[in-house]
Amino acid sequence: MTDAQLAAIAAAVGTPVYVYDAGMIRERFAALTDALSRRLTAHVHYAVKANSNLAVLALMRELGAGADIVSAGELARARAVGFPPNAVVFSGVGKTDSELAEALAAGLRMINLESEGEAERVIALAAQQGVVARVGIRVNPEVTTETHPYTQTGAKGMKFGVPLDRVPDLARRLADDSHTTLVCVGMHIGSQITAGAPYRAGADRLASLVAALRAAGLMTLESVDVGGGLGIAYQEGAAALDPDVFAEAIAPLHDATGLPVLVEPGRYLVGPAGVLLTRVVYRKHTGGREFVIADAGMNDLLRPSLYQAEHPIRVVGAVPGATPEDVDVVGPICETGDFLGLRRRLAGAAPGALLAVEAAGAYGFSMSSQYNSRPRPAEVLVDGDRWGIVRERERVADLIRGETPTPRWVHGEEAA
Ligand SMILES: *Cc1c(COP(=O)(O)O)cnc(C)c1O
Repeated sequence: MTDAQLAAIAAAVGTPVYVYDAGMIRERFAALTDALSRRLTAHVHYAVKANSNLAVLALMRELGAGADIVSAGELARARAVGFPPNAVVFSGVGKTDSELAEALAAGLRMINLESEGEAERVIALAAQQGVVARVGIRVNPEVTTETHPYTQTGAKGMKFGVPLDRVPDLARRLADDSHTTLVCVGMHIGSQITAGAPYRAGADRLASLVAALRAAGLMTLESVDVGGGLGIAYQEGAAALDPDVFAEAIAPLHDATGLPVLVEPGRYLVGPAGVLLTRVVYRKHTGGREFVIADAGMNDLLRPSLYQAEHPIRVVGAVPGATPEDVDVVGPICETGDFLGLRRRLAGAAPGALLAVEAAGAYGFSMSSQYNSRPRPAEVLVDGDRWGIVRERERVADLIRGETPTPRWVHGEEAA
């Protein structure tokens, strides 16, 4: 994506706007699948929650990825772009009966169970539908990762996964019931992981588990799942997970079990391929700080506020003669925690200047909200020298859709 393209997009579509680079998504997909295929048999299931725009999903499908979903809404998105049901894996700790029923009716590749309670619901619903549910068990492998506490999921005592010591009994229960087939055991140990070691540790645990299950006579496993979480470099020179290091870390699991390995990357594929374009509205000097007030805020990009994430921010287009200044780039939201980047060195960030908040392709738009009654941004896909809108900017009418000033009474006299 060139600066000329970004400037043209901002001028035509307005700001804030998310812009995704199809070419870069293709390159990253190829880099990962090449690294994996050199070392093992693996299938990539794109984690839809990272960026669930239909155009991004369509691109993933075209590239040959499956989909990893966490809600019925994501199932609808995956279906809308034609992912075949047997290329879809359903994850998540709190799947409801209606979501599970929908997944069973659709015939997904598998439902990844995260608790004994969920297993019982699936057994009951599969019996009701007269189908055999293909299920996996997401194991909590008790592996710690050095990431932000909010993106750790594989340590002991977290809400995710079935505790390691309870997996054999659950596997037995699933094997004994005629409405379920246990086709996979897996893990997802967190997000933005930049080292191979936690994957290797988790893969070791999964390999031992597969051996134990087989020794107990459980022979229905078709694959193992190592989840996603592959980290990217948010700042230049920062650590990122090299796909070769990742492949090397999980390959022993393939070697030990002879099973294909499912991989569920989200951020790795789309994070670096997106930018959030925002225009400077005001400058303000107060309390010894120099503020750049932009037209995008924490409702558009939550990661800086939620995870203290440091996205690179730059001024699009050269500003001749501008001197670099140390500034805090903040949004218009009525929260002190509303910032895009603190203590940044920018030149030419005057009112009207266009800023690119980089590496915003993952967990950007998909975590956005309408807080402060702000319509969510438009989304644009760039493909070579072409670009097009893939989501219209929301309108004020979208903000109040479904609301009424007076209740549509459901209970009480007026409802009668
Ligand atoms: C969120 C999630 C992923 C993707 O995580 P990334 O860090 O974006 O790669 C994969 N699998 C599961 C089960 C998830 O919840």
